[in-house]
Amino acid sequence: MSKQLFLNKFQEFITQYKRVVIVSHVNPDGDAIGSSLAFYFFLLKLGIDVKVIIPNDFPSFLSWMPGIDDILIFDKNTDKGVEYLNSADLICYLDFNHPSRTGLVHNDLCHCTKTPRLLIDHHRDTDFSQFAMYLSEVETSSTSELVAEVIQYHGFDKYLDDNIATCLLVGIMTDTGSFSHSIYHPETFEICGKLISPTVDYQLIHSKIYNTFSENRLRLLGHCINNRMTVLKEYHTAYIYLSKSDLEAFDYQVGDTEGVVNFPLMIDDVKMSVLITERQGVIRFSFRSKGEFSVHEVAKDHFNGGGHTNAAGGTLNCTIEQAIKEFLKVLPQYKTLLNQ
Ligand code: 5GP
Ligand code: MN
Repeated sequence: MSKQLFLNKFQEFITQYKRVVIVSHVNPDGDAIGSSLAFYFFLLKLGIDVKVIIPNDFPSFLSWMPGIDDILIFDKNTDKGVEYLNSADLICYLDFNHPSRTGLVHNDLCHCTKTPRLLIDHHRDTDFSQFAMYLSEVETSSTSELVAEVIQYHGFDKYLDDNIATCLLVGIMTDTGSFSHSIYHPETFEICGKLISPTVDYQLIHSKIYNTFSENRLRLLGHCINNRMTVLKEYHTAYIYLSKSDLEAFDYQVGDTEGVVNFPLMIDDVKMSVLITERQGVIRFSFRSKGEFSVHEVAKDHFNGGGHTNAAGGTLNCTIEQAIKEFLKVLPQYKTLLNQ
């Protein structure tokens, strides 16, 4: 389904449904929350009864966002979440393309197989056969940019308001690292230009996202760079590991490691950066790269994950020591590509 076909058919399609549920991915980021809330506000304006469900809590730097209190957090309110899923007549996947990315929601999503699905997303390797409607563009900054295009097609003059504009800007800003990567075309800037207004202040939104660290969070960042970063010159790679006790020492709160993985890329010669974190029972991998080197393949082929060319994630079920070992074992396969 082309973007044009999606846009042409969208309004007729969506208005058939009475109870819509929007789901986004586990450990929701700015784009997951921004795109879901903007789409939520848009559907409300179309007169649709809609609920946003996220698998687990959002980071505190998003807590000021309009509509955030309307979101159902599945691991805190599972019974109600299951009720919403079971009574939905349409389920929308925003900012992910496979149910396995929805953590605890996964099981219940799989139960309501008869409910049609709509997808708006920018990740790779989508199995389109599961969707009644889809807008999937890999070469787009963010899901929020795609939602912005949908709303723009139906008329910004009719549907855009400060809440929607704010949510969309948060999503695009965070998924592009404040417009420093994942920008594939001028439309990204053009659409953001249309979202900014005298009452939607980009600099203020940026400050609410990036200048609201706790002291512990900033000190944890310092610890990561000073004590936990290894630079592997021959692989143009740097990795940072964080054990459970590291996180405890800095009173870790959800979102505190967000952005840490980007810092090693500031080193001139580093093309790939990896953050290896010990989470409840699993090891999380966060990959970033600059230039052509694709971390999607690394995450997909070795760490049960995936993502985009320059940003991907994955998990392993092992100890932090084994995870580091595994990463170091895999690395030589990419030596040639990393040296290009
Ligand atoms: P992050 O490092 O910020 O957790 O994730 C970076 C990017 O990779 C995000 O776009 C995210 O959606 C994607 N991603 C993270 N973890 C996974 C995973 O386990 N599987 C897949 N397919 N994508 C992931
Ligand atoms: Mn995204």
